[in-house]
Amino acid sequence: MWSIIGHERAVASLQSDIAAGRAAHAYLISGPAGIGKGALASDLARALNCEAATAERPCWHCRACERIAAGKHADVEIVTPRSLCDVTEHDHSRDSSPSLRICQIRRVERDVARTPFEGRTRVVIIDPADALTVEAANAFLKTLEEPPPSSTLILLASSPEAVLPTVRSRCRALTLGPVRAAALRQALIEAQGASETEADRLARLAEGRSGWALAALADEGLIDERLTLMRRMEALTAAPRDERLAYAEEMGERWPARRDDVLAELAAWQAWWRDVLLTRVGRADLVTHRELADAIAIAAEKYAPLVIVDTLEAVRNTVRQLEENANARLALEVLMLSLPPATRPAAATIGENK
Ligand SMILES: [Zn+2]
Ligand SMILES: [Zn+2]
Repeated sequence: MWSIIGHERAVASLQSDIAAGRAAHAYLISGPAGIGKGALASDLARALNCEAATAERPCWHCRACERIAAGKHADVEIVTPRSLCDVTEHDHSRDSSPSLRICQIRRVERDVARTPFEGRTRVVIIDPADALTVEAANAFLKTLEEPPPSSTLILLASSPEAVLPTVRSRCRALTLGPVRAAALRQALIEAQGASETEADRLARLAEGRSGWALAALADEGLIDERLTLMRRMEALTAAPRDERLAYAEEMGERWPARRDDVLAELAAWQAWWRDVLLTRVGRADLVTHRELADAIAIAAEKYAPLVIVDTLEAVRNTVRQLEENANARLALEVLMLSLPPATRPAAATIGENK
């Protein structure tokens, strides 16, 4: 059985591909950090190599399933910016480069050309495909177009737009959206042994990101991290212009190496404004981050609903621009300048604010 929580459509489509013997040679699985891309890729690797005779693959009990789950299967490899290449002088495990380079892709090409060592299918997971340099992506096109038989390439990306169109067009695309809170809650209790209280809280805070919920179940610190990112939005709206711009610069510098971090921060800011908006229109009962209810209530007092909607939209636009590879620093600066001034009188009406 597939271990992934939710994403039923993606799973059904992969299962039918495999059952019909027409699995794609290259998949592009995209979605925000924590949505479950890695878990889905891992399930797919198991399904392609499981040795069980039944149709219930992956079985989780055969040698292949166990070795893949333990990260020990010789035919399943996860390639990251820290992975090996063939150049003796390179040490990507220590060079802290954010990119997946041509030398690393050359090694992947050599590896996938070999017949599987212990399983049926050689699986290479590129994580993240966002990190491919243009040069590496171009070098990879031929392999993506016609991978050697018995091999499957799985590219993970923050969005379909995060990879070159030429890469995208050579892969079967699966885009993962948020998992329903009820499904997430149930899986946390039944498959993960979470208490009802824990499951309620995580399913509420995860906003559909099953991978995040699992990680937060294991490490409570992730919840505090998320709340800290939201409070940063509160602090930035209160900050003077030069401080906001300095922060945009810092974030812009972080972008190339740590896209997921920056996107997670922007997602937290959207969450902040959504909760502020709900509170502003009298629906504090629907607020997601109840832990911040007091701060959210104070912010809600300061702005008219339409100002909050515009700000939420500005954050959303910034995410879209970054995903489309706009100039990150510029996009973030524009966002910082469009944050509403904190000095807005509490009694302001919609008319005055617009
Ligand atoms: Zn198995
Ligand atoms: Zn190298």
